[in-house]
Amino acid sequence: MTNASSGEAGQNLYVDTRGCCEAPVPFTEAVVNGLAQGGGLYVPERIPTLTLEEITALAKLPYAQRAAAIYKAFAIDLPDDEIDRLMARSYGDNFDDDAICPITSLDDDTHVLELWHGPTSAFKDMALQCLPQFFSASASALRESGQLDHEFLILVATSGDTGKAALEGFKNAEGVRIGVLFPDTGVSDIQRKQMVTTTGDNVQVWGVRGNFDDCQTGVKKAFSDDAFAQKLLREHSVALSSANSINWGRLMPQIVYYVSSYAELVAQGKVEAGAPVDVCVPTGNFGNILAAWYAKAMGVPFGTLMCASNENRVLADFINTGTYDISDRDFVTTPSPSMDILVSSNLERQLFELTGRDTQAIAGWMRDLSESRRFRVDADTFAKVRADFVADSVGNDECLAVIREVLDEHGYLLDPHTAVAYRVAQNVRGENPVLIASTAHWAKFGDNVYRALHDLPAGAPLPADVAALTGCQLNELISRETGGRAIPAGLSSLDEMPVRFAEVIDGDVASIESAAEDFLSR
Ligand SMILES: *Cc1c(COP(=O)(O)O)cnc(C)c1O
Repeated sequence: MTNASSGEAGQNLYVDTRGCCEAPVPFTEAVVNGLAQGGGLYVPERIPTLTLEEITALAKLPYAQRAAAIYKAFAIDLPDDEIDRLMARSYGDNFDDDAICPITSLDDDTHVLELWHGPTSAFKDMALQCLPQFFSASASALRESGQLDHEFLILVATSGDTGKAALEGFKNAEGVRIGVLFPDTGVSDIQRKQMVTTTGDNVQVWGVRGNFDDCQTGVKKAFSDDAFAQKLLREHSVALSSANSINWGRLMPQIVYYVSSYAELVAQGKVEAGAPVDVCVPTGNFGNILAAWYAKAMGVPFGTLMCASNENRVLADFINTGTYDISDRDFVTTPSPSMDILVSSNLERQLFELTGRDTQAIAGWMRDLSESRRFRVDADTFAKVRADFVADSVGNDECLAVIREVLDEHGYLLDPHTAVAYRVAQNVRGENPVLIASTAHWAKFGDNVYRALHDLPAGAPLPADVAALTGCQLNELISRETGGRAIPAGLSSLDEMPVRFAEVIDGDVASIESAAEDFLSR
């Protein structure tokens, strides 16, 4: 494999998208830093390429070894045997399927990549069972070489799924504490219970008055507050870091499953080696679809990347017009809350790549976005966007109709996020087979699945007897109504778990910072 042997290829260093860092840093530093100096995002200097043979040969390996092979191809600065060990811990019996992310084919040309077999039943586990392993290993490597003498506070803003996945990934990790903020009225009963019942000694969870963007903006401001950083270091010997998908260590594991899934499709005889496959991704922060782009850049024969938006369609509009505009856009509540987002952080990395790594252009657009809530890319960049991506959006009621339709036609129950992608793939697909990224188990969003199955409009109140059920009881009802399908163990036991966190705070940066300090002082 190109760059596979760390000896001859040398390290792959990380630059930042806005050209603010003085010197590029190795993988271990990029992972513990999270966000680069100056607000940009880390990106590897070199994207390794794999031959078709190297890609298809991965199918012979267990998933953990496929992941290790990709990390080695990126020439990260950890020893090969340590990478093997960390991957074995990341992808083992913490997933409920040996394939880790199995593919279910709905017909000859429509393949669903099930990314939700991890401990929290959402695709975030794919990255967050892995990132903490590499985070701890990176921190301890830096400590040993005398480059680090403090511990970490991971602060995560979540629209629901990331929070629990990060808590599960980081709980009881050494030298790390983790605090999660979620929009108090913006997550499902199941999502809330998953978070507030989290075990572990190093965890804290807060509800925030406001929506996800308020949460994320507040956390981003805390990250860029130098005085706060100094205070944390001085008084608590702690530095802030992030587990949001701005961390490159979140993105790498996602590249892995796209490379792996192509190998898998070929091995199962569903696709001929080398034949193009289009990929459709339900998109929020643009991390998941960006990972598909990197896999394609590495040599995976992906054709069109389909960006699927819900009614918060800023990304679909951007891909169709070249203008990213949230100056006059309201945040809409949808049945797919993990895609309810206005500021999509990882688009910055994509534009960095599509402009041929033009840090000045990126810094300018990001300035436009923060000053006037919009930016417009130049014609060349827009042409590059159009060469790789198509996009469409799906309304709330239509999303629910898709769930019903796919259950009737294929006996397969989609969650609302995957339903958005399914419909977009139907709307914009061409000749190629399509791989749909399925990002959550349906039981994380039982209320909307119930609405879908009973022809209720999105946002309609549930019948009183159903509304009185807990999320777990509702899932059991849905399971009975649809022929007794299985509910993941981590979701079915939530009602019996004690609630550990009930605090609700404001979303401004001062409130977030003082809550974080209280947590560290305990
Ligand atoms: C996070 C999430 C998404 C969006 O993924 P991005 O990488 O932010 O684009 C989609 N679906 C579900 C269920 C999610 O949890």
